[in-house]
Amino acid sequence: MGKIIQLDDALSNKIAAGEVVERPASVVKELVENSIDAGSTVIEIEVEEAGLAKIRITDNGNGIEEEDVLLAFQRHATSKIKNENDLFRIRTLGFRGEALPSVASVSRLEMKTSTGEGAGNRLVIEGGKVETFEKASSRRGTDITITDLFFNTPARLKYMKTIHTELGNITDVVNRLALSHPEVAFRLIHNERKLLQTNGNGDVRQVLASIYGLGIAKQLVPISGTSLDYKINGFASMPEVTRASRNYISTMINGRFIKNYPLAKAIQEGYHTLLPIGRFPIVLLNIEMDPLLVDVNVHPSKMEVRISKEAELNELVTTTIKEVFKSKILIPTAYTAVKKDAPKEEQTSLVLDEGTRPSPSTERKELEWNQPAPAATAIVQERRPWLETSVEATISKLPGQSVIEETVVTDTWYETNPFSESQAMSDGSTTTSVEPNFDSSETGCAASSESRVPRLYPIGQMHGTYIFAQNENGLYIIDQHAAQERLKYEYFREKVGQVQSELQEMLVPITFEYSTDEFLKINEHQAELEKVGVFLEEFGLNSFIVRSHPQWFPKGEEKQIIEDMIEQLLLMKKVDIKKLREEAAIMMSCKASIKANRHLRNDEIQALLDDLRKASDPFTCPHGRPIIVHYSVYEMEKMFKRVM
Ligand code: ADP
Ligand code: MG
Repeated sequence: MGKIIQLDDALSNKIAAGEVVERPASVVKELVENSIDAGSTVIEIEVEEAGLAKIRITDNGNGIEEEDVLLAFQRHATSKIKNENDLFRIRTLGFRGEALPSVASVSRLEMKTSTGEGAGNRLVIEGGKVETFEKASSRRGTDITITDLFFNTPARLKYMKTIHTELGNITDVVNRLALSHPEVAFRLIHNERKLLQTNGNGDVRQVLASIYGLGIAKQLVPISGTSLDYKINGFASMPEVTRASRNYISTMINGRFIKNYPLAKAIQEGYHTLLPIGRFPIVLLNIEMDPLLVDVNVHPSKMEVRISKEAELNELVTTTIKEVFKSKILIPTAYTAVKKDAPKEEQTSLVLDEGTRPSPSTERKELEWNQPAPAATAIVQERRPWLETSVEATISKLPGQSVIEETVVTDTWYETNPFSESQAMSDGSTTTSVEPNFDSSETGCAASSESRVPRLYPIGQMHGTYIFAQNENGLYIIDQHAAQERLKYEYFREKVGQVQSELQEMLVPITFEYSTDEFLKINEHQAELEKVGVFLEEFGLNSFIVRSHPQWFPKGEEKQIIEDMIEQLLLMKKVDIKKLREEAAIMMSCKASIKANRHLRNDEIQALLDDLRKASDPFTCPHGRPIIVHYSVYEMEKMFKRVM
């Protein structure tokens, strides 16, 4: 007798559930996506015990017709795709027709739905079995309540992470959906506490403010770029706003969240030398592209994607971000700089710790946003699905919304528009709202092509480390070592880039010995090493000898530099000459900069300041630390209570 049997529906649904709805957050994702696909403009998500006890999604979408209600819970039942070709052009979020049956197979599910015409329906399914199906009065839309999720699959329940992590995952999912659908008003409530609320007016910046807090939202700069096959846009944080993990780098393709590691790397590359090591930016990036160039079906949850012409896209992303910061004045004001260093700052915007108070500045800014909204503000219904928040859930993002709680307290939350442009911007302008507070009025200079650093006059030096300087806009403190490192870096970067450089013979040649595999790799890439000034000759078994080096190599450090350069090359998986040059320049600038504190005369200070004005990137050292901090006259007057 044969051994193969056809699995019954109940079992195959449970197996599918393992893929589609592996955790409460994925249930939330599937259901909210359904609500979005149904054209809802208001979606409320209510969860208890991180969704394990209860998940309720209420929407005002087009509802399900009576004859479709039971069908919707059949496997592969979908209203969104008719044939194979549709798969490649798909614009809706769902299409596999698996979510409802999967969720229903592992929970108790109650659904009330109505198309708004005639009576609606009420359906109760327990562990995949229909318990009740009846007519019920209901307003237009769908209201699904899931209780006892995974009650009949205890194994899964056991592996569920802590409530905290789960809730983090849920918030993350909802944040992303809110960012990709600024035209939908979302409200997320956990154990009766409001965690997120957006107003659905179509402005993604206001969703950003709801999630990250206004302080951070103001420091996100719009980015956009185009290449032959791609169009990108989104927001990138100013280099001084950083996070400890990559989780805040988020990417979408045609309005759909995706995960793609090379893309995240390309974004980071755009910040190269602007961020301290181990710190990451907050970036939201949407890529508009031909859906045919992307394969979205790599992973069941549709997150991992494969992109054709990946190199073109990554190049576009990196240069777009680089360009944005080239034209910005990146001198942090003392105020923001202080905020950044205080560990509490992250908490005021993302609020990790419920006890943390917002810093005074955040409070003040929040108040500006808190004025009553004009009675009738046009709600923008245009779809602008082009942003997302972090991919990995971070619980830390959760209570950031406490800010929102304080600012938007109204029952008709989706009808009012607390973030309407007119009062959101303190200056009344609608285009500059998210511009960082590094604008020219504050730093006292325009971003001219000549210099982004204003003319400064030396006051003196402190501890052989900090230079004090002034102009009519206030006080500037310059980290002398960081400044020197930046200048040296730019010097060496230029030198390293030159093809012909004069060589200097060494009195005593240096020899280096490597293991066989290292030797082979070095040998293969000798040409690249020569481009950064390292000239090797084979010298016996697995050894090289160096007899000369470019004249501009930092004195006394030649051996170390050559060794480090080779080390760099060995570390590279794929040898990239551009990258190698950059690393070489960073290394040399470190070596060449004066290590010990050194007293500078006023004319030396002046020379350094003038050089800094000529630097192409005068605001951060090659390791991403800030060079200049500014105290405006106003800040100082406030400090001394001359003004309030
Ligand atoms: P999919 O979303 O892949 O089509 P689902 O199992 O998630 O599959 O949903 C099945 C069908 O049920 C959908 O195609 C849609 O027609 C209907 N549906 C589900 N949720 C809603 C909702 N909130 N509002 C209106 N229709 C819905
Ligand atoms: Mg679906």
